[in-house]
Amino acid sequence: MKLAILSRAPRSYSTRRLRSAALDRGHQVKVLNTLRFAIDLSDVEPDLQYRGKQLTDYDAVLPRVGSSITYFGTAVVRQFEQMDVYTPNTAYGITNSRDKLRATQILSRHHIGMPATTFVRDRADVIPAIERVGGAPVVIKLLEGTQGIGVILAPDFKVAEAIIETLQSTRHQVLVQRFVKESKGRDIRALVVGDRVVAAMRRTAKGDEFRSNVHRGGTVEAVTLDPEAERVAVRSSQIMGLRVAGVDMLESDDGPLVMEVNSSPGLEGIEAATKLDVAGAIIDYIDNQVAFPQIDIRERLSISTGYGVAEIVVHGDAEMVGKQLGDSGLRERDISVLTLHRGTSVIPNPYSSHVLEAEDRLLCFGNLEEMRGMIPTRSRRRKRVKRLPKTPLTDDD
Ligand code: ADP
Ligand code: MG
Repeated sequence: MKLAILSRAPRSYSTRRLRSAALDRGHQVKVLNTLRFAIDLSDVEPDLQYRGKQLTDYDAVLPRVGSSITYFGTAVVRQFEQMDVYTPNTAYGITNSRDKLRATQILSRHHIGMPATTFVRDRADVIPAIERVGGAPVVIKLLEGTQGIGVILAPDFKVAEAIIETLQSTRHQVLVQRFVKESKGRDIRALVVGDRVVAAMRRTAKGDEFRSNVHRGGTVEAVTLDPEAERVAVRSSQIMGLRVAGVDMLESDDGPLVMEVNSSPGLEGIEAATKLDVAGAIIDYIDNQVAFPQIDIRERLSISTGYGVAEIVVHGDAEMVGKQLGDSGLRERDISVLTLHRGTSVIPNPYSSHVLEAEDRLLCFGNLEEMRGMIPTRSRRRKRVKRLPKTPLTDDD
């Protein structure tokens, strides 16, 4: 295949490794500086210029878009997508993962364990927010921080309030998050490629630092993830729309808690810790997908007027309960079931002999009018069982 690696750092470890992994496998590969593209929209066909010249044809693009250029970088990736060039990480996925609030919002409805998180703006809401996530000490995070910068541990309410006010006064938006103290100074980084974890490591912070980022001096060691952590890492990447991702998780008493999903994970630490050829796994995955790319169904299916994708919840009193999918009447109403979600398991393309249970959630494509009638008072009002924080709600004053 002919691959473009979008990177502003051709000499960085990750870019060099990816480039040589591609060359070793007999692919053509070019490292292109993300900021030297021009996006042309005037022509009939979507197009890209690179260094003032029309870009030649590529089969795939691997974006390594730095967080300082997310807007322009994702615009370039989106343009590649319009040109039907395969990318493992879509512009949509990269944008969502860059904003810690947006990522948390998206993951939160999919039963992915995360540290209790809240987002406030008004001064009067700060103290209640800290109490809601379990009191002090509490973690404060800039929405778009990375490499540990912008992640602060506030020891008490007063300091937390002062930090939040200071940051907000300089127009920074912040998240307030429960401090998972049993995981202090340690976390897990899982490198997901496609639908599997290809490498995982534990990072341990230096000294009494609580942030375990490699860029903050953290040390690394290889780990074998238990199946639950592996499942959570893969699911999180998929929900975010990323096929190459670094998932950061805390090891809490309640199991793995996802902190963030990174769209341009660094390879140096993980390859050193695990001695695995992560770059090679990424290139092989892309090569496989180029021949059979997945498409974004939301984008394509919504084009047919009157049809769309919706989630139908099988309520306890619904006639469908206990019936086989084939006898549920859905197909007759012009509705096809794409996936069936039961608790935390997902059954893609379920057989018509599949027996439906109460609380099953069906992801359907079909006639919107028909589906509208089947989404009565809807999950919107469903109260989720909330895990209470282990720390008492007020313990500081
Ligand atoms: P960044 O994007 O800067 O890496 P993270 O959210 O991944 O931000 O946080 C950086 C590090 O801080 C994590 O790797 C972890 O060691 C520590 N950390 C972050 N959030 C928490 C938390 N809620 N509880 C305990 N430690 C945390
Ligand atoms: Mg991180």
